[in-house]
Amino acid sequence: MTPKNPDQYRVFGNPIEHSRSPFIHHAFAKQTNQNIDYQKKLIALDDFSNAVTAFIKQEGRGANITVPFKEQALALADELSERARLAGAVNTLTFKNGKVFGDNTDGEGLVQDLIRNKVSLNKSKILLLGAGGAAKGVLLPLLAQNPDSITVANRTQSKAELLCQHFADSRVTASSFLDVADKQFDLIINATSASLSGGLPAISETVINNTVTCYDMVYGNDETPFLKWAKNQGAAKIIDGLGMLVGQAAVSFSIWRGVSPETLPVIDELRASFENE
Ligand code: NDP
Repeated sequence: MTPKNPDQYRVFGNPIEHSRSPFIHHAFAKQTNQNIDYQKKLIALDDFSNAVTAFIKQEGRGANITVPFKEQALALADELSERARLAGAVNTLTFKNGKVFGDNTDGEGLVQDLIRNKVSLNKSKILLLGAGGAAKGVLLPLLAQNPDSITVANRTQSKAELLCQHFADSRVTASSFLDVADKQFDLIINATSASLSGGLPAISETVINNTVTCYDMVYGNDETPFLKWAKNQGAAKIIDGLGMLVGQAAVSFSIWRGVSPETLPVIDELRASFENE
C-alpha cells in the first residue's frame, strides 16, 4: 500500500530563519503518530495574502504566523476565535471547508507553561510589563485563570492605557514603570522585547521579593538580562519563555490534529539543542 502523503503545514514570517517551529511540530507529530510535514517559509513583506492563497491551493491544512504578519492574518481570516479578536492578532490559521479560521494560541501557551511550572494564578496579583502584541495576546487567557489583578506597565504609558481601555475589565489597570515601585506582586511577566537587545525594563528592584515569580517571554541558552536581574534581587522563581513557545505550538497542533502533545520532552530537547549550539 502506498503511504499517504503527509498533511502540509507552514510557519510564515520575515525573518524566519531562526524559527524552531518545524522542529517542535515534527517532534509532536512523532510523539502522537501524525503524518505531517511542517516547513518554515520566508514571505516578502508585501506578499503575505498571496502566499496564504497559494498554500491553500496546494491543499495546505494550516499555518503558524509570526512577525510581522499577525495583524494581516487577523484581517485575512473568515472566522476568528474570541481570544484572537481581543488580541488583535492571529498566530494560527486553519484551512477547512473552504474557510480560513484564525486563532491566537500565545496566551494559552503562556498559561499552560505557568501551570506546568506550578505558578498559582487564582487570586494572584500580576504585573505585566509591555503593551505590544505579546502582552495583548496573553491578557484574556490570564484573566480566565481568575487573578485578583493585572497591572499593565509599559515604557510608553499611553499604550498601556489604550490596552486596558480595550479590555474594559476592572481587574486590568495601566501604570507607568515608575508607579509600580511601591506595589507587591505574586507574578511579574516580562512581555517587552528589552531582553532581545540585552536591556531591562526600567522598573524598581522594590517589586522583587522572595515570594515573587518572574517570567520572561524571551528565551535562549543564557539567562535573559531580566531573569538574571530578578534572581540577583532575590526572586523566588525565574522562568524563561521556551515553555511558552512550545506551549503555543502544542495548542496550534491540537487545533489542527485533534490531539494534545506532551510539551515537556520537547522543551527538554530544545533546551539541550541550545546547549550544543
Ligand atoms: P512588540 O514589538 O509588539 O512590543 C514590544 C514591547 O516591548 C513594547 O511594549 C515596548 O515598549 C517594549 N520595549 C522594547 N524595548 C524596551 C526597553 N528597552 N525597555 C522597556 N520596554 C521595551 O513585541 P511583541 O509584543 O510581539 O513581543 C515582545 C517579546 O515577547 C519579544 O521579545 C518576543 O520575542 C517575545 N515573545 C515570545 C513568545 C514565546 O512564545 N516565548 C511569543 C510572543 C512573543 P514601548 O511601547 O514603549 O515601545
